[in-house]
Amino acid sequence: MTDQLYLADSTVGEFEATVERSLDERVVLDRTHFYPTGGGQPNDTGTLHVVDAGGNGTVDADGGGDAASDAVDAELAVTDVEKTDTVYHHLDGAAPPEGARVRGVLDWDRRHAHMRYHTAQHLLSAVLLDEFDARTVGNQLYADRARLDAEHSKFSETDLADVEAHMNALVDDALPVRHYTMDREVAEAELDTERTRIDLLPSSITELRIVEIGGARSAPGNASAEGTDPRAGDADDPFDRTACAGTHVGNTDAIGEVTVEGRTTQGGEKERVEFTLADT
Ligand SMILES: [Zn+2]
Repeated sequence: MTDQLYLADSTVGEFEATVERSLDERVVLDRTHFYPTGGGQPNDTGTLHVVDAGGNGTVDADGGGDAASDAVDAELAVTDVEKTDTVYHHLDGAAPPEGARVRGVLDWDRRHAHMRYHTAQHLLSAVLLDEFDARTVGNQLYADRARLDAEHSKFSETDLADVEAHMNALVDDALPVRHYTMDREVAEAELDTERTRIDLLPSSITELRIVEIGGARSAPGNASAEGTDPRAGDADDPFDRTACAGTHVGNTDAIGEVTVEGRTTQGGEKERVEFTLADT
């Protein structure tokens, strides 16, 4: 399995890697910062630049048969990234040969927008759960808008204005966003599984990536307790704690101003809320 570097550090937009499998116009790398489509977050795009086509000299006998020398300095667009058994990068041309060294460069404007929208979704899910007991049942984000489906009969205009104000207060609070891994059994025993949405994950996942918003600020040895905002939670009870493999900004202040654009019914006691973020 490709080492998914974006899970450990989502702030990196450029990296080097080795081609492990070359499949016509797709490649598998030993490591990648390209996020594959998943969890309502679209894949990253960008380029792969071939810096050394030599590698171990192995070229797949029945495919990608271009001479390695032709591939040096080639720059290929990464048009799609999907994760099935591993992470596949779709390219706009013939994949470099196995063993080639490549430099990946993400379209950072797109990725950063996804990180802002995705982190904002965490806030929205938490606010809807706290204020309306409305569970999130679906979400989809883009680089310029996002929507979230929640179990609720109908949000009024006042409700939406309150939600928007609450989200913007959380942005203004500049809450830290951090993540760590946790054994699933421990997480199920110690955390609120509905709130963390662990119950939605396939049972095959035994180690969870937990994402926390708030809480770290008032952890022991961190900041003083003075002026602690109750919205921020504390180390044992952060504002939000979710099992998530997406990419996030490091602080809610990077999200920028939130505008709740409106709601539509999805039938069956389900509401869709749409929002946008101001350009930063
Ligand atoms: Zn997330």
